[in-house]
Amino acid sequence: MALIVQKFGGTSVGTVERIEQVAEKVKKFRDGGDDIVVVVSAMSGETNRLIDLAKQISEQPVPRELDVMVSTGEQVTIALLAMALIKRGVPAVSYTGNQVRILTDSAHTKARILQIDAQRIQRDIKAGRVVVVAGFQGVDEKGNITTLGRGGSDTTGVALAAALKADECQIYTDVDGVYTTDPRVVAKAQRLDKITFEEMLEMASLGSKVLQIRAVEFAGKYSVPLRVLHSFQEGPGTLITLDEEESMEQPIISGIAFNRDEAKLTIRGVPDTPGVAFKILGPISAANVEVDMIVQNVAHDNTTDFTFTVHRNDYNNALQVLQSIANEMGAREVIGDTDIAKVSIVGVGMRSHAGVASRMFEALAKENINIQMISTSEIKVSVVIEEKYLELAVRALHTAFELDAPTAGNTAE
Ligand code: ADP
Ligand code: ASP
Ligand code: MG
Repeated sequence: MALIVQKFGGTSVGTVERIEQVAEKVKKFRDGGDDIVVVVSAMSGETNRLIDLAKQISEQPVPRELDVMVSTGEQVTIALLAMALIKRGVPAVSYTGNQVRILTDSAHTKARILQIDAQRIQRDIKAGRVVVVAGFQGVDEKGNITTLGRGGSDTTGVALAAALKADECQIYTDVDGVYTTDPRVVAKAQRLDKITFEEMLEMASLGSKVLQIRAVEFAGKYSVPLRVLHSFQEGPGTLITLDEEESMEQPIISGIAFNRDEAKLTIRGVPDTPGVAFKILGPISAANVEVDMIVQNVAHDNTTDFTFTVHRNDYNNALQVLQSIANEMGAREVIGDTDIAKVSIVGVGMRSHAGVASRMFEALAKENINIQMISTSEIKVSVVIEEKYLELAVRALHTAFELDAPTAGNTAE
């Protein structure tokens, strides 16, 4: 008998019919003798609807109150699923994050889990009940409701699996595993049987929203066996694994990630003196804006152009900061660009192969796509390009690195 934590995402619980289907599925596992803890997201679209409501009151809602509201989405689904299980003769009980005491810090809208009190859940499991827990939410020391950031139910699932020492954490979603790239963008994307935690971490942090990055971090840290599966189709899914197999067939690149969440800022013609980077990025950081990629070029006239990217939500804020320091730094101008996208190739195979980056640049050059910025690490190469070329770039790279499936098509809904 195994203890399994099963997490079902928004589309998998998007209608009452689907919730009934999920209940059937959970019942099947339980009838097979497993103990089950279920984590659910809000019904698809619900979290967005709630955020929109808040924005009708205030463009920047007070984070504490926003959390009180957006956490209600998951509370609806836990109750519906528990009802659907009980209707089928399966003893079940639903709990909010507060009730099972998923203790977090107080960083509203992006809280981190600090501790989970597993005792209550263990008592219910012993009593033969399926425990249904609300994803995405927790509570801070003072009793305030917190949420874990978009996609945070994945993290609830993995954290619960770690706290309960579950045999596996299964993330059920609307695709049948982790693909070489988003199968909704590239029809020839292929499902991966396995991917390493390290690669999945890069993929998630570079834009692949199939798993929330913190969920992958958690699973790696606590060695939680983690699998991504389709909610309503049978199949092996994708196992996120620790071992890096040295096989001949191991591709150099495991996947391609992309995002449209960033914006680019450039401050031009700044006198090139020691401390320039700090003078620019100090105030940016003081404004609580995180910087991702950075490029600095020095011109013949001893001035420098300094370019960096930030999250698009922080763009206006960062632009204002730059404009306010441009004068005192004697800069020529400040330029901003929100029409950019970041495309990244990821793979542990890069460690043992040279020339991967140039192969990437060649593929983009063939499509006449201009690279604006580059950054590399041991297992990834990222480029910033004009947003309108994003899909073309991803497809071209998918082909260039021989990731295309032999026949087009996949099982994404
Ligand atoms: P859920 O609501 O179940 O949490 P998400 O929408 O958060 O589902 O995540 C699943 C989606 O992630 C898929 O529908 C797919 O479009 C997207 N996705 C992005 N990159 C990948 C990838 N490499 N492999 C699989 N799915 C991906
Ligand atoms: N409902 C939350 C969201 O839409 C959490 C999740 O689905 O994982 O982001
Ligand atoms: Mg998700």
